[in-house]
Amino acid sequence: MVGHINVYQVHHHCSKYSTNDNWLNDTQPQIGIVSVGDGNRYGHPTAECLERLHQHNVKTYWTETGNGFDLDPEFDVVAGNIIVEVAPNATSYTVRHGSVVESYPIAGGSVTPPLGPAAQYAWSKKSKVYHFANCKYVENISPENLQTGSTPPAGKILHKDCPK
Ligand SMILES: [Zn+2]
Repeated sequence: MVGHINVYQVHHHCSKYSTNDNWLNDTQPQIGIVSVGDGNRYGHPTAECLERLHQHNVKTYWTETGNGFDLDPEFDVVAGNIIVEVAPNATSYTVRHGSVVESYPIAGGSVTPPLGPAAQYAWSKKSKVYHFANCKYVENISPENLQTGSTPPAGKILHKDCPK
């Protein structure tokens, strides 16, 4: 359902159960961010996870060297603080670490804002309230619960302090 993605925050420090081939085939991430700590007791990042990512051509950025598999310089870099930036409607995004800035094209064109102009209202399917789409609370609604519309939803009330 998600489709292709550009930036993948690799699950659970690249443990051996992070990712699987079906998921990588469907999402085809360009880059992966691996949050991992030096000297961790769990052997992260693992060979299993990294080899899966490499087989799917995912370039990875690690926060630290970790305590698992060695990095493969063809795919992996220990980058420290990793800053991913993209402007609305841009056709590329950048990954910055230290003084290095790398640019990647956005797969499928550009990142469109999640709510189009037709979607004036947004709500969680689990909540009794709805919001104007620009309300900051909308950002906190998890994607699987988020619903939008050009008219208010039946049976829900407007969030008390919702901005208009
Ligand atoms: Zn609101």
